[in-house]
Amino acid sequence: IPKTANGPADEAADDLTLLAERHLVQPWPVSGSIGAEARGRLDAGEGIYVTDASGRRLIDGPAGMWCVNAGHRNRELAEVMASQAMELSYNSPWYTTNAPSVILSARLAEHAPDGVDHVFYTTGGSSAVETALRFMQFANNVKGRPEKKLIVSRQGGYHGSTYLSASLNGRPRDHDWMDSASDLVVKLSCPDPFRRPDGMSVEAFCDFLVEEFRQVIEEKGADRIGAFIAEPVMASGGVIVPPPGYLRRMQDLCRRNDILFIADEVVTAFGRLGHVFASKEVFGIEPDMITFAKGVTSGYFPLGGVMIAGRLFEELRRSNHSEAMFAHGLTYSSHPVGCAVALKNLDILEGGLLAHARAVSDHFQQSLKALEELPLVGEVRGLGLMACVECVADRASKNPLTLDLEVGKRIDRHCQELGLLVRPLIHMCVMSPPLTISLEQIDDMVSILRRGIELTMDDLTREGLW
Ligand code: PMP
Repeated sequence: IPKTANGPADEAADDLTLLAERHLVQPWPVSGSIGAEARGRLDAGEGIYVTDASGRRLIDGPAGMWCVNAGHRNRELAEVMASQAMELSYNSPWYTTNAPSVILSARLAEHAPDGVDHVFYTTGGSSAVETALRFMQFANNVKGRPEKKLIVSRQGGYHGSTYLSASLNGRPRDHDWMDSASDLVVKLSCPDPFRRPDGMSVEAFCDFLVEEFRQVIEEKGADRIGAFIAEPVMASGGVIVPPPGYLRRMQDLCRRNDILFIADEVVTAFGRLGHVFASKEVFGIEPDMITFAKGVTSGYFPLGGVMIAGRLFEELRRSNHSEAMFAHGLTYSSHPVGCAVALKNLDILEGGLLAHARAVSDHFQQSLKALEELPLVGEVRGLGLMACVECVADRASKNPLTLDLEVGKRIDRHCQELGLLVRPLIHMCVMSPPLTISLEQIDDMVSILRRGIELTMDDLTREGLW
């Protein structure tokens, strides 16, 4: 986001740029600019819009990072945060509890699949995934089967940035320069129907994916596999909607082999797919654990958690190790302010926002789908209010445009000029706006995106790159 060069506000902007370059380390930096980078600054937000440092208003296409579900500047969320902070700003979860976290647990249990009725709160998605995995390890230790700890994840998946959660990630950049606990993880193929092998039907592709998992279980042994983790719709991997029936069939294999199914709903929960949790309502699955974060507070407060099936605790209570401690907790587990915000956010979702998200999602998907007319676009796919526009160099071969062209960044630059923030992922643009978006705003968003792609095609043609 470029800044203009006049007036005192701009001097302040320059100062902040300098300070950021000197002192701030941004997440996901590259070594060429690590610790010396100032990213485009946002100063304000209102509804689906954000305002950048130059005063320009932009549609927040990715809702921050898939999280500002109730939209920016929601007064109810802001007020409940302030009033809870004035009431009880913090309590130690080590020896006390608070009302908002208890009430929230019961309300979340009402939305989760039957029996998935307990919640462990964390500070975000990575810590939620970490908690689910450590709980699986703990439970298998207590149950006297310490060998049953392998975790099965998928290529293309993203589950976090702590050591164990990051070890599950399946995008090359997550492992190129980073260490991981690779001996604990087995990765299956990405369930991406667009990139299925040539000549294979979607149904046959689904059979292949399920068979691959079955073979892994056979090879490694069911007695060594503790959990399977999957985002119901892979988010950062490019909004990958798996083939119909895939998740249910993977769940069947888990059930038959006593493998815990962890649905990572950090993105898909809290309205993104029109429901509080998507597992049962959208995909007909009933996971043993569901991780969530982001939309639980619409991004107003860092909070996450894991929903856990109560029967898993019953099994532990029946074991012979009543003294075994699940030595895992966070200073901010069950934070009263976070839970109060989440309760209000749930009121907003139940009070009409879920219904609104469901009502506008067809228009959202169809309008974006029309961008497939553009020759640069290989596929537009999505579900609910999340979608991805994948650009290809050549439609027949589905070749992605190469990294050095940075097509997503080019589109994003044009769109920002026109009033839309895009989330570029190399050659893909992900759209997941605040759920409050209206039909007219969807039209605005899509027409800016269309123009941004057209301008990018012009640039690539002029530069002889495409
Ligand atoms: N799981 C999924 C599916 C995610 O998309 C993310 C974050 N993008 C995480 C886990 C990690 O969440 P956090 O960044 O809050 O730690």
